[in-house]
Amino acid sequence: MSNRKPIIAGNWKMFKTVSEAVSFFSEIKGKAEVDGVESVICAPFTTLPALVEAAKGTSIAIGAQNVHFEDNGAFTGEISGVMLKDLGVKYVIIGHSERRAYFAESDEIVNKKVHASFKNGLLPIVCVGEKLEEREAGQTKDVCKVQTEAAFQGVSAAQAAEVVIAYEPIWAIGTGKSSTSEDAQDVIGYIRGVVAGLYDQATADAVRIQYGGSVKPNNVAEYMGQTDIDGALVGGASLEPASYIALVEGAK
Ligand code: PGA
Repeated sequence: MSNRKPIIAGNWKMFKTVSEAVSFFSEIKGKAEVDGVESVICAPFTTLPALVEAAKGTSIAIGAQNVHFEDNGAFTGEISGVMLKDLGVKYVIIGHSERRAYFAESDEIVNKKVHASFKNGLLPIVCVGEKLEEREAGQTKDVCKVQTEAAFQGVSAAQAAEVVIAYEPIWAIGTGKSSTSEDAQDVIGYIRGVVAGLYDQATADAVRIQYGGSVKPNNVAEYMGQTDIDGALVGGASLEPASYIALVEGAK
């Protein structure tokens, strides 16, 4: 058995106003806080100050969904790690497939953002995963290897041990078509091997790897039952308080 702490992270994507976020938080407070499970809400930038305030004195961590790789500069519309750290944000999702697909985020940009996170004391949740065509062509592991190796380039072993990887097969995101827990375990075990190849077994054993893609309260325990799966990155099912609480409870 590993001593990795399971981590459930809600990825709200572009949902919730400030008042909706605060009301959600008041409903999960004290409930989505389960001993032995880390609970993280990754929310839109506009809601982060209010959420960080609401989370004070709780064990729930707050995360952003993106970060720019520079600390400041003429980058209209962007938000930096310095700004997120200043707010009290702990985690940041990097390289989500929606950012890769709709905002042209390349492996190189993902890597720069990982470095920017560590530079500013933020912990990255790095997303990797294959498209449907890639899965059908038998390229799942190759794609995950390339994305993982690129994300970790120049990252020290001490930093790498703190990275959370989210394996999200793109065809499973928001579709209700989740990967079987055995398939997810197969790929996640492989990704852990890739990290071992880049560093060493101790580092690979420390890295937490989540599964993501149509995780719901009724299937989270199945994923958690697999040796290498350390939690879940959850979109749709993280938006309702009762559902989010059930996910955290189910990860125990
Ligand atoms: P989903 O999204 O849970 O709605 O499939 C997962 C994600 O995009 O992180």
